[in-house]
Amino acid sequence: MGLGPQWQARDGWFEQHPAELERQAILHSRQQQSLASEASAAAQPPQQAVAAQASPVPSYSNQQPEHSAPLAAALHLPSDSARISVTPSPNVEEALLGWEQLEETVANCQRCQLCNTRTQTVFARGNPQARWMLIGEAPGEHEDRQGEPFVGKAGQLLDNMLAAAGLDRDRDVYIANVLKCRPPGNRNPAPEEILACQTYLQQQIRHVQPTLILALGRFAVQTLLQTEQSIGRLRGQLHQYQGIPLIATYHPAYLLRNLPDKAKAWQDMVLAKQHFARLSQPA
Ligand code: SF4
Repeated sequence: MGLGPQWQARDGWFEQHPAELERQAILHSRQQQSLASEASAAAQPPQQAVAAQASPVPSYSNQQPEHSAPLAAALHLPSDSARISVTPSPNVEEALLGWEQLEETVANCQRCQLCNTRTQTVFARGNPQARWMLIGEAPGEHEDRQGEPFVGKAGQLLDNMLAAAGLDRDRDVYIANVLKCRPPGNRNPAPEEILACQTYLQQQIRHVQPTLILALGRFAVQTLLQTEQSIGRLRGQLHQYQGIPLIATYHPAYLLRNLPDKAKAWQDMVLAKQHFARLSQPA
């Protein structure tokens, strides 16, 4: 159904992933700058050397992704022109962690009160190299117990919708939530919890570099788009999250309670597929 290239997880893929290569290139560039700076300082009179040492080294979050295109071209990566380089949010200063370190950090996180009531953190599921990224709200009871997002009836409905759209849940999509821990009683997440957790989702997005985000449910949509408008007003059009095309649609759990809106959710999926096909075409 015109899904474009399909990506399979493979041994060593992480070391070859554009985000990891970009990180390595930046580290290398910093080392070169540092060596050049030391050599320059050694050759300067003492006062100039002090001034040179005081020059700030730019943090990773301020680096422009200038290495992506040359690296991708040099490695002949397939259709990466359709991937979107993510500009980190200016209020997130943390360096990009590797996947394993990020997952371990989340597993041990105690940044907000939800760490006291969770059974376990829920990181993500699916293919980290997928071109589609689905983002939901937060783990529910089943997810908290099983450690995986979108399980239970809502997960089954989502899987069925993905299958009907020709998308394999394990191969073609990467699925994560705004929050990694379950709010007790499935209450709405609190603003301070979102703030505490936002860096993890941003890092996931920076790694995946999805071509398209499908935001599931009012909470995820409003959080990502920084708006209080309803899904009814936001669906049916293409939005942007930090430069990445985003389609808003209903959460599967909502659809289980409001069956008539399933038709609208399917329209959103069709719209998302149309945009994905267009975005995947070579420039
Ligand atoms: S919800 Fe996020 S910030 Fe809060 S404890 Fe869990 S992982 Fe940490």
